[in-house]
Amino acid sequence: MTVAVYPGSFDPIHNGHVDIARRAARLFDHVYVAVYDRPSKHLLFSTDERVALAEAALSDVPNISVVSYRDLTVALVERLQAQVIVRGLRAISDFEWELQLALTNRKLAPQVETVCLMTSIEYAFLSSTIVKDVARHRGDLSSMVPQVVAKALGEKFGYRPWGIDQRQ
Ligand code: ADP
Repeated sequence: MTVAVYPGSFDPIHNGHVDIARRAARLFDHVYVAVYDRPSKHLLFSTDERVALAEAALSDVPNISVVSYRDLTVALVERLQAQVIVRGLRAISDFEWELQLALTNRKLAPQVETVCLMTSIEYAFLSSTIVKDVARHRGDLSSMVPQVVAKALGEKFGYRPWGIDQRQ
């Protein structure tokens, strides 16, 4: 049984993340989407909110669960008895950081492999930062995030994003 951990800030989870998680779930027996509690980034959503949104976005995939963590990713990987860290790659600019991260994790835990999945072209432009910027300016989020995330962003920024069913 091969178990993978897909770690990140997921602030919030968007369609690029969802795509990587779903594709990883086809490759591995179980995938833990691991929400990092305290990244060195300014967060819009609390850890509980980020976990709940990821759970809602991926609830239809039986072999994905969502956890949060606050220590080293490799420590979580060991706790969950996983073998693989999954990361997503959008552009060359992601590569340098992901390589550094993968080599650090290899140094800390040589038995853990990092597997990078290439973004799907339709999500190559997406990042949580972009999504938050669009939401801040009350833009249409319908092609960028799951509906539950659009709703949560709308609540944070005080508007009803396009693409949300008006009856909800
Ligand atoms: P982190 O703070 O660890 O970078 P993120 O939530 O920003 O966390 O991203 C988690 C992972 O998802 C990273 O490996 C990132 O490169 C990947 N990722 C982010 N956006 C996309 C996207 N549009 N397509 C594919 N992978 C992505």
